[in-house]
Amino acid sequence: MNSALGLDRVKSVDSIALQTQPMSDSSADHGDNSNFIRDIIDADLASGKHTRIVTRFPPEPNGYLHIGHAKSICLNFGIARDYGGYCNLRFDDTNPEKESIEYINSIRRDVEWLGYEWHSNPFASDYFEQLYGYAIDLIKQGKAYVDSQDADEMRANRGTLKEPGVDSPYRGRSIDENLHLFEAMKNDKFADGEHVLRAKIDMQSPNINLRDPVLYRIRHVTHHNTGDTWCIYPLYDFTHGLSDAIEGITHSLCTLEFEDHRALYDWILDNLETPARPVQIEFARLQLEYSLTSKRKLNQLVSEGQVSGWDDPRMLTISGMRRRGFTPESIVNFCDMIGVTRKYSTIEMGVLETALRDDLNVRAVRRMAVINPVKVIIDNYPEDQEEFFTGANHPQNPDYGTREVPFTRELYIERDDFMEDAPRKFFRLSPGREVRLRFAYYITCQQVIKNDAGEVETLICSYDPESRGGSSPDGRKVKGTIHWVSARHAVDATVNLYDRLFTSTNPGAAADFHRALNPESLVVMPDAKFEPAIELSGNTLAYQFERLGYFISDYDSTSERPIFNRTMTLRDSWAKIGQPG
Ligand code: ATP
Ligand code: MG
Repeated sequence: MNSALGLDRVKSVDSIALQTQPMSDSSADHGDNSNFIRDIIDADLASGKHTRIVTRFPPEPNGYLHIGHAKSICLNFGIARDYGGYCNLRFDDTNPEKESIEYINSIRRDVEWLGYEWHSNPFASDYFEQLYGYAIDLIKQGKAYVDSQDADEMRANRGTLKEPGVDSPYRGRSIDENLHLFEAMKNDKFADGEHVLRAKIDMQSPNINLRDPVLYRIRHVTHHNTGDTWCIYPLYDFTHGLSDAIEGITHSLCTLEFEDHRALYDWILDNLETPARPVQIEFARLQLEYSLTSKRKLNQLVSEGQVSGWDDPRMLTISGMRRRGFTPESIVNFCDMIGVTRKYSTIEMGVLETALRDDLNVRAVRRMAVINPVKVIIDNYPEDQEEFFTGANHPQNPDYGTREVPFTRELYIERDDFMEDAPRKFFRLSPGREVRLRFAYYITCQQVIKNDAGEVETLICSYDPESRGGSSPDGRKVKGTIHWVSARHAVDATVNLYDRLFTSTNPGAAADFHRALNPESLVVMPDAKFEPAIELSGNTLAYQFERLGYFISDYDSTSERPIFNRTMTLRDSWAKIGQPG
């Protein structure tokens, strides 16, 4: 529990103030967004190949977006914005089994929340009729045929990386027969898997993607957008390039796994008359330490109940990060910081956390909260007395104003800020030792009262009235400063302390990622005490609870039952200790 708070790594409020960085215009730090893709675009504009840049972000609505998608969103929408063009949000919805309206709505919300506006928001399924026409066109050119091998035969005849494939016995079907069969496929004359439509390219090609790839398959499932209109569905490669062309996309940006598909992308567009001729450009996908960026695996975490949902604050989904207290700016800045290249690398979690801390440090309203409380009674402080200390809402930004912090005889301090048998270098409270209460007075611990179980229940202390404001006229040195909350004024709250969901840097590579789950990724503190000046619901305002980190009210928080999430600690506690414990 001690390590969850991390107070042993934070000496005093003053040392935190020193760590905070001067406020700066963050856009100035990341003004240079150049990358190899922008170089290509610059050249295309200079040569007159294009006069307006059009991009798209094409998620499949089969899950919620994650931090990896954010990289693609920032890239595509960022380029469109910077070049005065536009970007479409296109749902690549060719696998009806896995897609849903819930996912569609969450994706729209996430893109908007990140601060981007799409030009149009089509479904690839809106083009099914046109795609069908393109398929007929290929058949008529003798460049596509209906194959009736079953799945096993097709797989066996496809060859391997070392061995070429074998032509299907149906490859020589006449154009008329193909047209007839394909129409019958469309008209619901066959069962799933009976036939497929394939491009007629080259079964000997060293690129397996060109060995007569499947363009259409039969699937008797209801589609979220087209209902039961279709029982044949086009495959990704066929759909993607043509959708790009239909929309007039100039630069189709995708991740490097699709590099080997580019030849097929080009083949399709080179063999059909389309309204535009986009090019595919690949970049390295985001890989982030300690995280999974695969919708399939994230889905598994949700369906197994390992997390509370897609928006569990430990999930690096956009919706989870939002609930956790990430700002859109911190995510966009992170994407700027990591840049775009063709080389795979794994980004340290610290980069994301730094982007978040830098942004929250500028934004967050400062408050005091005690998360794991122990009662302090100041023996020589009058029982009916109450005074107010004025605290800045932000140490560097006077525009944030101030608030009044009530002080009374009974307070709460952090249990971790007291130690009974303290070593010499423990600069917080222990019997006979003096500590500074933030804003207020020096107090000295006189007596420790324990319950029957031997746990510390109350600390009887004395205060020095001369030390008001935090210094003593006799120049007496007090090293430690701790935070506190007046018991009478305290607001009771539950605080969720979140940590990384995985203990291993690459959980996705493990045979079973479950073994890498961090059992301490969520510690619930049911007994927290807040100073009164805190907005308890609404999930808008970021707080820095002094010495503890950044916090935000959870969606479920109400003024009757406040629940706060710790967004991030004030500094990285993983760098040195590796993992909590
Ligand atoms: P997943 O494997 O999680 O389902 P995906 O790539 O299949 O991911 P899509 O919905 O197809 O998910 O992705 C939409 C866009 O986001 C694609 O252009 C894809 O290249 C991009 N994208 C997905 N993951 C990443 C990532 N980790 N880094 C950068 N871009 C990504
Ligand atoms: Mg995909």
